[in-house]
Order: sequence, then structure tokens, then C-alpha cells
Amino acid sequence: LSADKLAQDTIDNIKKTDDKLNAWITVQEDAKPASNLDFDQNKLAGIPIAIKDNIITDGVKTTAASHILDNYIPVYDATVIERLKKAQVTFVGKTNMDEFAMGSSTEHSYFGITHNPWNLDKVPGGSSGGSAVAVASGQVVAALGSDTGGSIRQPSAFNGIFGIKPTYGRVSRWGLIAFASSLDEIGVMSKRAKTSAQVLNVIAGSDDHDSTLSTRAVPDFTKYIGQDVKGMHVAVVKEYMAAVDGDMRAVLQEQIDALEKAGAIITEVSLPLTKYAVPDYYIIASSEASSNLQRFDGIRYGYRAQNTKNLLDVYVKSRSEGFGEEVKRRIMLGSFALSAGSYDRFFRQASKVRTLICDEFDKIFAENDVIVGPTTTTPAFGIGSEISDPIKMYNNDILTISANLAGIPAASVPAGLVDGMPVGLQIMAKRFDEGSIFQVADFIERTN
Ligand code: GLN
Repeated sequence: LSADKLAQDTIDNIKKTDDKLNAWITVQEDAKPASNLDFDQNKLAGIPIAIKDNIITDGVKTTAASHILDNYIPVYDATVIERLKKAQVTFVGKTNMDEFAMGSSTEHSYFGITHNPWNLDKVPGGSSGGSAVAVASGQVVAALGSDTGGSIRQPSAFNGIFGIKPTYGRVSRWGLIAFASSLDEIGVMSKRAKTSAQVLNVIAGSDDHDSTLSTRAVPDFTKYIGQDVKGMHVAVVKEYMAAVDGDMRAVLQEQIDALEKAGAIITEVSLPLTKYAVPDYYIIASSEASSNLQRFDGIRYGYRAQNTKNLLDVYVKSRSEGFGEEVKRRIMLGSFALSAGSYDRFFRQASKVRTLICDEFDKIFAENDVIVGPTTTTPAFGIGSEISDPIKMYNNDILTISANLAGIPAASVPAGLVDGMPVGLQIMAKRFDEGSIFQVADFIERTN
């Protein structure tokens, strides 16, 4: 099979299957592999990869699933794209998502809802729902997503695939359309952990364009594939296990038992601040979002309202017409939390709680290599079932957002089925120890 044929077959298959799924915003119908493919040098040469539509691609429309950017064609590549180009992957298009990555269901997209391939009436999760569905349905073998509060791990869990959010500071955010800069992280989704390890090898590592990036050396993550888990210290968080019902707990417990049987040392631990994670995250994320989204003013990029009277009117009308409801909700919440009278009560307080959450994790990781538990509180929910209740939607994120607040790496690996739908085992590790995550995830894949 030649890389040209693979590119063409991939596009044909996407066109055939995507009517039902709607995983893509842009399909690059003229997709072509790089010339002079070097298969010895580049393990991913000629492999088609999907890119979430909040990652900037030179010459290819990049919308963040928003009306306000629906005609935006960038003139440069994100660092991760530049690196994947050097590694000679084949780009086939951009995937659907919640607008500006705000959401947990891919129902908040200007380009329509994405459907879960396991059951078309269920959500695929979000916000990287399109990337998850593109991988789960076999349209591509790997996809990039972004994770600010769970947007890689939760859709991976809902679609029965592997997805990893690396350590904050591991992968350059240059060219990622910012949602909440202190939480955002680009990561990888694939059927198998090994594929994500190969992609992460390519995209990770220091970059002069992102000053929050660590300069430490990036290990070869594939080294951790195929290792055993004997002697690893695995913590199970009481509060996380209590958040899921009996059926789900049983599926997860089977995986924990398998780890124990293979020689891992299991300890129950407690993260008492878990109950504050959702309000803490939504204050911090919305505050940063309200600031980051100021640049969308109808002047510099994207959509501009017609029939405006003056400059202020251009701003107000362009933003009112260009942003969706959920994005406006976040901007209002964030502007409120940052306003003069509220800053001390909300943003400052939330920042303090964040530090305490970090400390809780550090204590556990002083004695353990990884934390395992559920990725989500339930399997995929029905399309339309939570969209009108934002608080309920936000509460879905309770198990994933602490990792972003603490900046630690975290992944979801398929753990089994509940009522015919996949559920994920979440694996968290110390900062810059993605290796242990790959080690445990690959073990779980091999035992299932
Ligand atoms: N569901 C969370 C939110 O809506 C997380 C989104 C994300 O990780 N991008 O903010």
C-alpha cells in the first residue's frame, strides 16, 4: 500500500462514513503525503493524522468550531504541526469540537453535533469529540486534541480509545487557540497507547515560542511500552471511586485487581479537596477565557457584523453574533470573577485552592508512581440530555479537571463496557512522568 493510496483511501472513507458521525469540520480532499518519505527515519511517515480545529494550520481553515472564526485561514503552523510535518505525517483535515474547547459533549459547535460511533444517539464527549470519533471509528489511527479540563481524556473514555494529556509544559502551545492558558495542553488520541507514545515523541520538547515550556530532555516514550508493572506503587483515590456507580466500579476494580496480580502495590488514598475542583476550575478557566477571547473583536480576524454604526458597535455586534451561548456564558462568568469587587473573593481565592490541590497531589506522588481510577462518572450520556443544564454538564468534569489544575500528566485507557458503552480507566502521574502512564496503560491494554 503506497502512502498516496493510503491518503486517498482515508479521504474516501471519511467522506463515506462522516455523514452519520460529523467528526470533521474540514476534510483536505487533496491530502497528499510528504514527498521523499523516509520510513527509516520517520516512524509516522505517510500516516494520516487528524487535528483538532483549535490548532493552527498554515493555509487550512481553523475555526475552533466558532462562527467568529468560520472563515479564518492561518498563515503559520502551530509548533506541533511544524514538527509533525517534519516527521512526514499526512494531514487529512480538522476535527469538530465544542466551540473554543468549552464543553464536554461536542454539542456546542457552530458546525453541528458529533455522534458517538458506539451509539449514534449518544454524545462523543468533548471538547475533542471529533478527534475521538475519528480514531474510534477507524477514520484515522491518531489525532491531536487539547485538554484544559478533560477534553482529551473524557471523549477517549466515551469512545473506547486511549488519550493522553501530557504534563503542562511538555508540549508547545504555540498555535493552539487559547482557552485557559495556565491549563491548556495539547495531547494525543489513538486506539493503542504505543501510537500515542510515537506521536508524543515527535511533538514534545522545548520551543522558543512558548516560555512556559520545560527545557528538560524528552525521553523515548515507546521505551515504556511492553514493560511489566511489578513493584509499581499505584494509588486509588477514595473520592474518585465513590463518584461512580456499582457497575462501573466493578469494571474498574477488575483492572486494579489485574495490576495487583501482576505485582503492583495498591494503596487507597484520599484527595479531600476533590469537592472544590469543579468550582475552582470554572472560576480560573472562565477568567482566563474572558481575557484570551478579547482578541476576537471583529477587526483582526474572522467574522465582522454588518450594518454597524461605530467602532463599539462593531465589537458588540460581531461578538454577540459570532460567539455561541456557552462561550458567552464563560466570558460573563470570567469577567465577573475578575472584576474589581469580585477579584479577591473569586479569582484570588480560586488560585489559593489550586495551590492546595497541587499540594495534595504532591503528597500522594511522594509515595506512589501513579494514581488510577475512573475517567468519568458515567459512560457517554444521550445527545440533548444535559445541554440545557450547564451545572450538570460542568459537574461531569469532576474527575479530570484536578490534573489540569495541578499540571500533572493524565490519560484514559479503555477499561471495559457498561451497558454496551465503553468506560475509561484514568491514570495520573507526577509532572514529566508520562512514561509511567504509558507503562500502565499498555499493561492494561495487554491484559484486556
Ligand atoms: N469540559 C471542560 C470545560 O468545558 C473542559 C474542556 C476542555 O478540557 N477543553 O471547560
